[in-house]
Amino acid sequence: MFTIENALIATPDDYSSTKVLITDGRIAGISSQLDTVGTSINADNKLLLPGFVNAHTHSSEMWQRGIMSMFPLELWLAELYDFAPLDIEKVYLSALGTAVETLLSGGTTVVDHLVLIPGKELETIATAVRAYKEVGIRAFVAPLIQDESLAAGIPSGDTKQTHEPYFRSTQATLDIIEEAVKKFHCPEKGINIAVAPTGIQLCSDALFKGCAELSDKYDLCRHSHLLETKAQEKLAKEKYGCTAVEHLERIGYLDYRTSLAHCVHLTDKDIAILAHTKSTVVHNPLSNLRLGSGIAPILKYRQAGVNVSFGCDGASSNDSQDLLEAIKIGSIVHNVTDFDYQHWITPHQSVKMAALGGATGLNMADNNGSLDVGKKADLVLYDLTSLSLLPRTDPIGLLVLGRPVNVVDSAWVNGKQIVKSGNVTTIDVQDLRQELLKHSQWQKSRKSKTAAELEKHYRFVMGL
Ligand SMILES: [Zn+2]
Repeated sequence: MFTIENALIATPDDYSSTKVLITDGRIAGISSQLDTVGTSINADNKLLLPGFVNAHTHSSEMWQRGIMSMFPLELWLAELYDFAPLDIEKVYLSALGTAVETLLSGGTTVVDHLVLIPGKELETIATAVRAYKEVGIRAFVAPLIQDESLAAGIPSGDTKQTHEPYFRSTQATLDIIEEAVKKFHCPEKGINIAVAPTGIQLCSDALFKGCAELSDKYDLCRHSHLLETKAQEKLAKEKYGCTAVEHLERIGYLDYRTSLAHCVHLTDKDIAILAHTKSTVVHNPLSNLRLGSGIAPILKYRQAGVNVSFGCDGASSNDSQDLLEAIKIGSIVHNVTDFDYQHWITPHQSVKMAALGGATGLNMADNNGSLDVGKKADLVLYDLTSLSLLPRTDPIGLLVLGRPVNVVDSAWVNGKQIVKSGNVTTIDVQDLRQELLKHSQWQKSRKSKTAAELEKHYRFVMGL
């Protein structure tokens, strides 16, 4: 039980200083008239916001950030997998790193679309779960699965392409996910397993349907990449004779628990489908810029009533895990896509998308995503005396549009404090830095064999 005193909170058209009482992991009262109960936390000159959701990332990509070639997604993926770490210790360290960077940029929940080490799938999942539990961040571990080989993700065009079968059967993959759900899915403790076929480019209908069944059986969130690139748009036409969204609706994958990363290349009809199925779009602006995928039509989604949240995407296509940076770019990039400034995203709307939009996409908006009595205490206090948030103007405006540096003073998840005075309290971050240093080395250049094999065909079908 504790009371946050004198915190600045946003009101509909201003700010006010107030007390916030937390009991049993939930917000029990918000009012300047409250008595202080339990430990008193001084929040003078601090802004209190609901924790944000990093709604799409791949933690183990941290090992390759900064080094990936300037490639579009299809070739980039080939390079990524040629050099992917196959080491459980690395999975652990990069999950810790992803959690810490998310927390220190305002996130209290992370969705890890987790790349699995072949043959060590459950061990990979167990390791990420252990890391997130240790840090104390709310986590949705979404094991990344597919049942088609990488080359199948590139459209064939007029050519005849045959692809090797994937090394594991669809059913064996679904069995792994069901076992992971039985072992690790525990929403009350802040650890959730989500079903997460990587996307239409590498997954059969049987895999999507099997995931939807598991989602219904265990009430799991559904996640996937969707129409990130032009190549995927083309591939959907070849594969289904309709758009990917039309197909996913037809096979029953879209519902209020479904969040879809990227959504760059959608038609107006697709957008209407996302709206009426209550699916969520996860906006990953930095990754879309880095890989040249395009700018997702987020303003259109918002106008159509589609819920939108923000993700960093994996650190190999970003190349960081700074949620505030993704929110900033993901908000202002649209000012160049729509001349009508009345449609532009305001900083207050950005914050709502990052918190409540994120919670909605994970089917937890009843309990998370806003400062309301009864909701879970997933909270972040920002230090408004940080040089990057001075002088005193509009704190949310400056948090979103500025370049906030080391501004998270405190963070709580489920009422448990895990960041205090700017430091993560649950793990030793100095030690993590040493381990990341120890497990990596400076590299100058490297060549991806698979990317080289795919490049000629890719350039041909994409008309390059
Ligand atoms: Zn991704």
